[in-house]
Amino acid sequence: MPASAPRVVIVGGGFGGLAAAKALKNAPAEVLLIDRTNPHLFQPLLYQVATSVLTPGQIGSPIRNILRGQQNTTVILGEVSAVDKDNQCVFVNAADREGVPVPYDYLILATGVTHSYFGHNEFEKFAPGLKSLADAVAIRNKILQAFEQAEAEEDPSRHRDLLTFVLVGAGPTGVEMASAIALLVRNTLKLEFRRINPENARIVLLDMAPRVLGTFDEKLSLAAKKRLEKLGVEVLLGHGADQIDANGVIVAGERISSRTVIWTAGVAPSPAGKWLNVETDRAGRVRIQPNLSVPGHPEIFVVGDTASLDQDGKPLPGVAQVAIQQGRYAGKLIHRRVTDKSKPGPFRYFDKGNMAVVGKGFAVLQSGKVHLSGFLAWLAWAAIHLQFLAQSSLRVSVFLQWVWTYLTGQRGSRLIVNHYGPKRAEAVVDAPLKLTASSK
Ligand SMILES: Cc1cc2nc3c(=O)[nH]c(=O)nc-3n(C[C@H](O)[C@H](O)[C@H](O)COP(=O)(O)OP(=O)(O)OC[C@H]3O[C@@H](n4cnc5c(N)ncnc54)[C@H](O)[C@@H]3O)c2cc1C
Repeated sequence: MPASAPRVVIVGGGFGGLAAAKALKNAPAEVLLIDRTNPHLFQPLLYQVATSVLTPGQIGSPIRNILRGQQNTTVILGEVSAVDKDNQCVFVNAADREGVPVPYDYLILATGVTHSYFGHNEFEKFAPGLKSLADAVAIRNKILQAFEQAEAEEDPSRHRDLLTFVLVGAGPTGVEMASAIALLVRNTLKLEFRRINPENARIVLLDMAPRVLGTFDEKLSLAAKKRLEKLGVEVLLGHGADQIDANGVIVAGERISSRTVIWTAGVAPSPAGKWLNVETDRAGRVRIQPNLSVPGHPEIFVVGDTASLDQDGKPLPGVAQVAIQQGRYAGKLIHRRVTDKSKPGPFRYFDKGNMAVVGKGFAVLQSGKVHLSGFLAWLAWAAIHLQFLAQSSLRVSVFLQWVWTYLTGQRGSRLIVNHYGPKRAEAVVDAPLKLTASSK
């Protein structure tokens, strides 16, 4: 690489950032990819880690391992905290240093989103969201711990709260999580406890919207709702959570007592708009131009969930395909610029469709005029998700795990991983645990 090669800094190694880096593979440029975590994460399967089907290592690969064959690319573990547009540098916090300036000739911001509690940040403490591997493992701990606590609890009147799981938000993540918890209790755990019957667990999925999977066609929403109900999930629509605290959720003035509430509702973009001090949409996503650059800054691109772009009068959705196609486009555009080739036309998103899985052997699929629900949709869902995992080793391992889980009901990782030892549960603090003969 000549010393004069332009430097492309990519912030974020998710779907958008990784696609951009790959598109720059043969570019005469020095590519620097900065991410605050070391894995590239396949977020669509996070719910399977949270519900014990898969292990964290099956849906994430180290970014540097994925890009190991790309000689022009360096991967840095660090968190970007600011951007200086005028001096063309980003500021990075790494393990031992803060605010290290890293200069760029081109910048691609692909920093995704975080949870949004719609102004109720106080809910976060009681209702964790699902965005990272750490979130998924924390939720897995919480779900499995609830069963352990109930088994250890001698007062049956306390079992109900411990075995009530509430999911707030009936989009794809809420629907997939609720159905996966239903399978966990009905198939996997049913023979393993003596004092409790896991099948009696109550699973509640609630949303303010009038239907589940609101972005899908109405018939598919209805099919998904029926399937959820068949699995024993209570679907409460038209009401949000008025209050979430240590004892559960208040919905439409009524309390649902629960020790396990999971937030599967809103997301908010990364602070990219604030770093750049540019126009954002109402949600805070950076408004970008049709070539994905920031107005007035042809050297800065924003892609994926943290960008806002309309196509045919509608904003593009925050889904993996948009991020991948935008990342690829931004990488290609920069490659052409640095090689003085003609620039591509404006970005255009090709919508391949949406899918959501609802338990074993059932999914809904919407792609153009094709609307499908049932086993065929589930097969398509499984094939497409396997195809988009980052590495062949993950594809093989996830495929085998799915076959095993499908045939036996057994899951990949039901470990409660508690690095600092379990906190004493409030439920047993005032009622010391007695191990009687019935509990062996
Ligand atoms: C639970 C869940 C399920 C989903 N299911 C689906 C689905 O079924 N189908 C679908 O199409 N989409 C799904 N999505 C959405 C999809 O995952 C996103 O649209 C996609 O990940 C967006 O890609 P991105 O590159 O914009 O952001 P991300 O993939 O989120 O990547 C952002 C990256 O930036 C890094 N980062 C953030 N801030 C900084 C910083 N300051 N410094 C350094 N690095 C930083 C993060 O660590 C991360 O690696 C799901 C999302 C979630 C959370």
